[in-house]
Amino acid sequence: MKLLLQEIHDKAKNEVKDVFELKNLKDLRVKYLGKKGEITQILKNLNTVGSDERPEIGKIANIVRSDLESLIAQKEKELEDKILTERLESERIDVTIKNKRVKPANLHPLTIVTRELEDIFLGMGFEIASGPEIETVYNNFDALNTPLNHPSRDLEDTFYINNNIVLRTQTSSVQIRTMRDKKPPIKVISPGRVYRSDDVDATHSPVFHQLEGLVVDKDISMSDLKWTLETFIKKLYGQDIKIRFRPHYFPFTEPSAEIDISCFVCGGKGCRVCKGEGFIEILGAGLVHPNVLKNCGIDPEIYSGFAFGMGLDRIVMRRFNIDDLRLLYDNDIRFLSQF
Ligand SMILES: [Zn+2]
Repeated sequence: MKLLLQEIHDKAKNEVKDVFELKNLKDLRVKYLGKKGEITQILKNLNTVGSDERPEIGKIANIVRSDLESLIAQKEKELEDKILTERLESERIDVTIKNKRVKPANLHPLTIVTRELEDIFLGMGFEIASGPEIETVYNNFDALNTPLNHPSRDLEDTFYINNNIVLRTQTSSVQIRTMRDKKPPIKVISPGRVYRSDDVDATHSPVFHQLEGLVVDKDISMSDLKWTLETFIKKLYGQDIKIRFRPHYFPFTEPSAEIDISCFVCGGKGCRVCKGEGFIEILGAGLVHPNVLKNCGIDPEIYSGFAFGMGLDRIVMRRFNIDDLRLLYDNDIRFLSQF
């Protein structure tokens, strides 16, 4: 019996040593120490052993049992540690690894130019006014003295939401709102998005941007308009730029003018950019029509004003040498990241 215990002990020790899986270790525990395990069986059957041998066999069996228990417990801990180490190794986060760089965003060219123009006008004492892009027909046309038969009112030119509501075709509606809300003196610019029912091509888009200005006070004349625009244009394009006023017609100003600047590419000699003219049209302007002042509750006998407006998209395109308007609206990151 002693020999049998010795054999079982040696065999069990070797088997525990060679185990690499927790599951197999569990099987070994059952095999030797479980209810029907080999050691348990010996302890259960001690009564078959002669009474003189019984205490010694019992003692040895208990020693073997507790030795195997501690060996198995030790092996169990080893295997668990190994599993944990492997898991930590495989799930390790290397905090020194280079993160995929997120490139900081840059401003859209339209925003760059709009802010630049705003800065110039703020420096000249203007405030920035804004208004809704969905506007009443009254604010967009009627209050601006636009005749009922004016082509800009046509369904083919303007997006109508219903008979009384349109997507604003110009930021001039902000001038109407400002004049109704504030008493003169008024000195505002209104940059913003406007809509016209145009097909998309290299120079047209149903969405584009304008910047308009309005000054209303006592004794405002054409010379104030001229000084303001000259100052603005020279700040934008440099002191050497030549400026030309041409008579024009707008329903909301009287007299009205279109303003050209000498071509900044050829200096006035004529080139592809100015289409051989030597001059480029940059904005429209004029003295606010007395009817417009009246429509906004301002007495044209006491006050007068001037207004001007320009297309921002064209200015952006010339500034950055962009030859296709669509590029400003395509949201192509390869294009936009150049600015
Ligand atoms: Zn030119």
